[in-house]
Amino acid sequence: MAAPLEVLARVFLPARCALCGQPLPVAGSHAGVCGSCWDDVAPARPVGCPRCGEEVGDGEECLVCRHDPPPWQAAASVGEYGGALRDLILLFKHGRRDELAAPLAHLLRRRLDQLPWPSPDAIVPVPAWWGRRLRRGFDHADLLARHLAALGAGRRIRALRRRRPGTQAGRTRREREALAHGTFAVRRRLTGHALLVDDVLTTGATARACTHVLHAAGATAVSLLTVARAPRPGRIP
Ligand SMILES: [Zn+2]
Ligand SMILES: [Zn+2]
Repeated sequence: MAAPLEVLARVFLPARCALCGQPLPVAGSHAGVCGSCWDDVAPARPVGCPRCGEEVGDGEECLVCRHDPPPWQAAASVGEYGGALRDLILLFKHGRRDELAAPLAHLLRRRLDQLPWPSPDAIVPVPAWWGRRLRRGFDHADLLARHLAALGAGRRIRALRRRRPGTQAGRTRREREALAHGTFAVRRRLTGHALLVDDVLTTGATARACTHVLHAAGATAVSLLTVARAPRPGRIP
């Protein structure tokens, strides 16, 4: 139990924004983050490649996708992994701030509404490793999928199962793909258009592996929606 003084301090001292540290205004704040930080998170994005979501070209498939098409139909994200968006994701995943899932799902929903994608038959989260889930106390992608479903985007179906943890930091795309292969398995069968949801698209190794398994699970098409996307290595932003 908190000491009475601590409780009083919580009531009377202004709470501060978890990102910028400014006192939290009553209006526009969500989940301990102030309105102006939320505004910085999702500025207007340039039209990019519809296949990989990379912010290149003007709505045409990029050269990379034309030469080496990803297994999914389409991919998009709220923005690039950096600045306030990166801070929010780190706070959500590693700061154990699960209350950020709802406003982040709102950003996903808003992005989804801008896309010409068919409405999904299933919203499928990329599953976290159980050990990680235990340490964090929640499964971040599943939480996003759950809130996205609550916002009327479709039905959440946990169609994938993770067999082992993914330790991907600092590895090349080829190494990640080798590691991701066999990491996921079918947990539940589904039909139609599956919307795969995750926090960050990095090299795409995880998303590729999940897409292949979703096809095996019965999905006829897979689209990928992430909160952020790491810019392709070598690309000048
Ligand atoms: Zn702020
Ligand atoms: Zn592309």
